[in-house]
Amino acid sequence: MEFIKLEEVCKIYGRDENRVTALDHVSLQLEKGEFAAIIGSSGSGKSTLLHTIAGVDAPTSGKVYLDGQDIYAQSCEKLAIFRRRQVGLIYQFHNLLPTLSVEENITLPILMDKRRVNRERLNDLLSLLGLEDRKNHLPNQLSGGQQQRAAIGRALMNAPAIVLADEPTGSLDSRNGQEIIRLLKESHKKYGQTLVLVTHDENIALQAERVIGIADGRVVRDERQ
Ligand code: ADP
Repeated sequence: MEFIKLEEVCKIYGRDENRVTALDHVSLQLEKGEFAAIIGSSGSGKSTLLHTIAGVDAPTSGKVYLDGQDIYAQSCEKLAIFRRRQVGLIYQFHNLLPTLSVEENITLPILMDKRRVNRERLNDLLSLLGLEDRKNHLPNQLSGGQQQRAAIGRALMNAPAIVLADEPTGSLDSRNGQEIIRLLKESHKKYGQTLVLVTHDENIALQAERVIGIADGRVVRDERQ
């Protein structure tokens, strides 16, 4: 079933001699529950594509649909609610708040959305991520891999339909990086989210069900494994 649809999406930054075409007529469909990797070299447009899907960065032209609805046609308020409730974003650098514990970091988006924390989901996530005995620790009391796992917990706590990860292993060594990919795959299987992972690493991309290659803002490869 088609879930996310990009139709002729273009994204242009700057103007005149500073003009950069980051996305050049990208048309793409993602199915519900699919795990896709977006691969390309630095500057090819991967992050821009991810942010366009996330409702963070409106395209210069073209449309982005979720379940048939044009996400950028809604009011700013509705778009913010879409981002908060439907999208889980994971970055290379975890951006955890240093003065909050692991548990507080994970539950912060729920509290900011004035909703009640589902303790069962929280415990489930802490167990999945192997952080039960670290939930009261501050980020600087954790290893890099544990910090990234806490950031994954924060992205998943809202039970988002879409999980978008931008080079989530970029700051980790290969063992911790592989562990993060394993956890993303496991949570994708367990919670049935649509998972889109941006990477420049072919070995990581090949672990997805589908590999979408981007070069100069265009889709140049689309393979299902
Ligand atoms: P990638 O994630 O593949 O490294 P990006 O999507 O970050 O690529 O960037 C694609 C192109 O758009 C690059 O040439 C980059 O310099 C440019 N770009 C990205 N964001 C901005 C911005 N906010 N302002 C101007 N140019 C940008």
